[in-house]
Amino acid sequence: MFARPQPTRRRRVTDAARAHPVGTLDDARACLRDRFGYPDFRPPQLRAVQAVLSGRDALIVLPTGGGKSLCFQVPSLVRQGLTIVVSPLISLMTDQVDTLTRRGIGAAFINSTLTAAEVANRLSMARAGGLKLLYLAPERLEAGRTAQQLAAIGISLLAVDEAHCISEWGHDFRPSFRRMGHLRDQLGAPQTVALTATATPDVRDDIIRQLALRTPEVVVGGFDRTNLLYHVQSSATPSEKDAAAVRWLRGAPGAAVVYAPTRRDVERVTAVLVRARINAVSYHAGLDAAQRQRTQNAFMSERARVIVATSAFGMGIDKPNVRLVVHHAMPGSLEAYYQEAGRAGRDGAPSTCVLLYSHADRSTHEFFLGSANPGRVVIERVWSILQANADREGFVPFTLADIAEKLPAATGQLRISAALRALATAGALMTQRPSLGRVRVRLLATSSRIGRELVGARAFDREVLRAFWRASDHQLGAGVSIDLDGLPPSLGGPAKIIPVLERLESEQFVSWGRTGGGFRLRGRGSAPTLPPVDWPALEWKRQSGMYRLDAVQGYAQTRACRRAYLLRYFDDPKVRTNCSACDRCLGITVAPTERSPERPAHRRSRPRRT
Ligand code: ADP
Ligand code: MG
Repeated sequence: MFARPQPTRRRRVTDAARAHPVGTLDDARACLRDRFGYPDFRPPQLRAVQAVLSGRDALIVLPTGGGKSLCFQVPSLVRQGLTIVVSPLISLMTDQVDTLTRRGIGAAFINSTLTAAEVANRLSMARAGGLKLLYLAPERLEAGRTAQQLAAIGISLLAVDEAHCISEWGHDFRPSFRRMGHLRDQLGAPQTVALTATATPDVRDDIIRQLALRTPEVVVGGFDRTNLLYHVQSSATPSEKDAAAVRWLRGAPGAAVVYAPTRRDVERVTAVLVRARINAVSYHAGLDAAQRQRTQNAFMSERARVIVATSAFGMGIDKPNVRLVVHHAMPGSLEAYYQEAGRAGRDGAPSTCVLLYSHADRSTHEFFLGSANPGRVVIERVWSILQANADREGFVPFTLADIAEKLPAATGQLRISAALRALATAGALMTQRPSLGRVRVRLLATSSRIGRELVGARAFDREVLRAFWRASDHQLGAGVSIDLDGLPPSLGGPAKIIPVLERLESEQFVSWGRTGGGFRLRGRGSAPTLPPVDWPALEWKRQSGMYRLDAVQGYAQTRACRRAYLLRYFDDPKVRTNCSACDRCLGITVAPTERSPERPAHRRSRPRRT
């Protein structure tokens, strides 16, 4: 099932391709020259374009900057009909659409920033043949009748850009991409081309399987970015890393990106650089959209030379002349490292990638891997806590903190939320938002006090209590969660009942509170004592995280050619043993200052799903 996809020699032209004549390679070359001003395709692009022109499904794996956009843009322009491009980020869409429209090509996007009228307008332009390329986010494709409307227009080609977002094993997983296979069917299963820079076999297999590509042509382009110089510098402490970053930035004039793991690190490193009179700005997800836009503009227009950023910065940023990318800490995978480092030198000019590595970097990732994969014991404990505290309808009015209180202190909320996610994935529970109508009530007063005091003008209060009592199955003394909207309408709903509750509480008849959301167990009554979790799949996920961490640490610690290490990992056949463009091959590795001997990464073999 997970065998590596093999390109087949047989050419099979799909119905969609027959319906929309697909153009020849000569047409494509002419289009590249006339519309884009480039003399020819790069060799892997050529293979990709040929595959798409042949009418077959294709998976195109080219490194960042390899020119993936043209692999679907040019074929779309030399054929009849509309190409749909699915892309995960609004910024990616607007960039590409701007570039195309500047070149006089009919292109538009549909995303959440548009009004319904604007969406309708663009759809009608597409229907009238005024658009060659229409960009959408998958969420948008799912909304309302968009997919059916597009299917009715007739789609000649579907391009899924950044297709690694489809894979849970990729580092940019987006749940909405998971449903792309289904959406593709809704669009009438047109010829499909998936594009990504993530080359690991797991992710490739996942893309092919999820999109149900039909005997796809798989084009894996040269992963070697020959203009990039690779360096790793071991540093024991953050301040040593700061000093190293300053040295590298001073030594390399031109635009630079410094990646740091957390928002706090970003702010701190920026301050260090500014103190060293380096023109640097911060970028991370904690800044609001306007601030992020300002920072990004400053960097793009070279008012700021250096951008210090978390991994939130980068996807879709096409600044060709970045001369240096410094990683202040080791990322969690080589995929992430190669993608981020690959933002250097997109113009082909020599550029440098530096990884500042310390052993502590690994511990941080191990901590997060452990938290993201809590293990069977924690998941089962969380499950039994939920079961023990569920009411008759399976509702547990707990917050994360309530669950944490009942577990050993070391468990941590990250682990608990991962356990809850695993249970939700298994279909065992749903998270429920706080609702105005849902309250938790406990009866404090005796029935004789109620009979004595709630008479006359207080008859309504007594009626409310009686309704609670019935709804609680006579458990009101123990405290139950009650949906006020579910009580007899004659009581008037939450608007009339809440004042009664307040009055009753002030007189010590009841205690109550709004429930701050919680969890609802599925299949209550018949609920199994053990959660129906796919344990092997969870274990596989943990192992692949560890495998990826080992691989990136192996890169940091290798005594041989860094480039060869990268290319082997990405399955590129063109591995040589000496590249003359990394610190190892040049014999200029900056000696580690750490006292502790290098603990070699324990190399696991790539885990395989069975
Ligand atoms: P990717 O999506 O693979 O990261 P892009 O499609 O954004 O790459 O292209 C990266 C850059 O390379 C763009 O500036 C693009 O114009 C340029 N480019 C692509 N193909 C060619 C080509 N055949 N000749 C010259 N430049 C090209
Ligand atoms: Mg791209």
